[in-house]
Amino acid sequence: MLRGLRRLNRYEKRILDIVKIGGKLVRLQQFGFSRKTEEGFRFPIHALEIGTEKAIQKKPVGIVAGVHGLETVGIRILLDFLEYILHKKSDGYMTELEKGKVGLVVIPIVNPGGVAKKTRSNPAGVDLMRNSGVEAESAPLLFGGQKWTSKLPYYRGNSLEPESRALYRFVHHYFYPNENAIMPVLDLHSGFGTIDHVWWPYAGTKSPCQDTPVYEKISEFLKVIKRHSRFKFGPQSETYTTHGDLWDRFYDHYVEKVNDGKKNARFLPLTLEVGTWSDIKDNPSKIFRKRGIFNPAKENKFETIVTYRDFLRDFVLLGQSNLKDWK
Ligand SMILES: [Zn+2]
Repeated sequence: MLRGLRRLNRYEKRILDIVKIGGKLVRLQQFGFSRKTEEGFRFPIHALEIGTEKAIQKKPVGIVAGVHGLETVGIRILLDFLEYILHKKSDGYMTELEKGKVGLVVIPIVNPGGVAKKTRSNPAGVDLMRNSGVEAESAPLLFGGQKWTSKLPYYRGNSLEPESRALYRFVHHYFYPNENAIMPVLDLHSGFGTIDHVWWPYAGTKSPCQDTPVYEKISEFLKVIKRHSRFKFGPQSETYTTHGDLWDRFYDHYVEKVNDGKKNARFLPLTLEVGTWSDIKDNPSKIFRKRGIFNPAKENKFETIVTYRDFLRDFVLLGQSNLKDWK
């Protein structure tokens, strides 16, 4: 049953409105379709190019959301951010996009079938963030990804799902070809707990990735200079390890096959896991309300969502930098 169809339609409408608001600065693209639902629906997976064509090509930064169909906070944070930076009358209007200093490419909903079905997984029951085929060194028994059955959560599937392939095509198209660019890509998720984590690779091993020094410098910059001190930065495996992380696969593919190390370009995937209880810090009385615990601060969702605008703006502006800035 498609209990989330109205919700999905609402988001799609906002995406079309964003295309309208952005005028010449925004172009709608499609990178594929979701898995078919039992009812026979296949949903298109849309991407938006925001900025001049040259900046999209030479200075692209990425943001994606909705890999897990239940984590709609990430989708709403992203749509709010786009409205905020594209409205000409908004305080947040980003002139850097218009001037071609940086380009932004987004997939607001990677897993539209999961949103429509109100499931974490895609319509085939596959958890896309366990789907890459990468084997972790060790991972928690169920949560780390399992190959037994799609009837249990965290199912890894047998091969790349259509949504995973769409995300790969997106990454390959916009980020792999550049010779000279810093290309951070942020994947928005939400998790249990109060802390906002920003993770870099790897999810599958505690060994540091090749770009750890660059990630550390960027984190320090965002934390100290840009004052985003509430975010906790680090490799994902510091929090937990999982099998099948898509970013592990794309990152390794880039490092091993695309960039021989001679290019002054870096593809830098990051995951923001929004602590869904993070607004409780501001209003501790919520925790004592019955609804507050299971449905954190529904009345305060809007305020929670807008608190990510500054962080996302500073994240996008990283695309203006060069590799030598982080050495
Ligand atoms: Zn997630």
